[in-house]
Amino acid sequence: MKNIPRINKSGPQPQKLAALRQAHREWSESPDVLTRLTRRLSTTLKLETQLAILAEELSSVVPFDCMNYRHQIAAREFVYATGMGGPHRCDYRLNLEGSFYGTLSLSRRQKFTEQELEGIELMLAAAICPVRNACQFIAIEQAALTDSLTGVPNKRAMDEVLARACSLGDRHGDNYSLILCDLDHFKDVNDQHGHVVGDHILKLAAAELEKAVRNSDSVYRFGGEEFAILLPHTDECHARAVADRILEYIRSISVNCGDVDVSVTTSCGVAQRLPDESADQWLARADEALYRAKDHGRNCTRVFAVIGN
Ligand code: GH3
Ligand code: MG
Ligand code: MG
Repeated sequence: MKNIPRINKSGPQPQKLAALRQAHREWSESPDVLTRLTRRLSTTLKLETQLAILAEELSSVVPFDCMNYRHQIAAREFVYATGMGGPHRCDYRLNLEGSFYGTLSLSRRQKFTEQELEGIELMLAAAICPVRNACQFIAIEQAALTDSLTGVPNKRAMDEVLARACSLGDRHGDNYSLILCDLDHFKDVNDQHGHVVGDHILKLAAAELEKAVRNSDSVYRFGGEEFAILLPHTDECHARAVADRILEYIRSISVNCGDVDVSVTTSCGVAQRLPDESADQWLARADEALYRAKDHGRNCTRVFAVIGN
């Protein structure tokens, strides 16, 4: 096999090998649609690619105008559609071993016959395992990029997005700004009110940050009590205004702990990306601005200004 280099020379006996060769030939060259479908689906974990393969193979068995697939995977609504629908539809809920993996509909102008429906169902039964694997893969990918306490994307997600922002910035000359927020004296909150209260405030802080920014901006939990906000198409002036709004939103947090209401403040450091600047250099400037905000007494914003630096 070309793509599977051999590690050692021992292998099956000659008769077994001949049977295996024959089975492999049949499997890889079989014109049978179910074999071809499962063989093709097994080559990818990308749900979108799998659905394109499924639509192509299904259409060779039962003609249809539109295939529609929909599934909520963790926080993401995954939607896939081909073509325009007709008035006749068949809908399936994809279930496997008690778990749900989305709804799939086919539609067209003519009614589906009983035989056609049976054909579709045989194809879907063959596709469900690979589709389940692809859904689980998306869920695992999402979990790896999400902070489990606050539900916002984590540092790993941020690293990927910053790298993309740098290459887009260099290619198209777009402005990008970064805000780093670090909650003030957060150790004292934990020490005086306990980690449970501290965790609760971190969740509230993430929610307030998401409320304070536009939909096109993205919030990340960068470290323990540190958050970062990436603002595309934003210069340092506008980013500063957003950071000041963030100060207000964080100040509005109040958690009742019996006889006291606990509140927090944050400090913000802002840096607009410079041409040809790496993500690390950009982050270091935002961090320097944050350090200046802390040094200035906290609960304030400092900008690592492009002009004059
Ligand atoms: P500063 O104003 O200088 O930032 O002071 P600070 O106390 O916020 O900074 P410091 O770095 O001394 O302490 C950070 C604190 O954040 C200490 C740590 O216990 C707390 N922290 C970090 N991650 C978590 C978390 O996941 N949950 C809770 N409850 N606290 C956390
Ligand atoms: Mg900190
Ligand atoms: Mg802090």
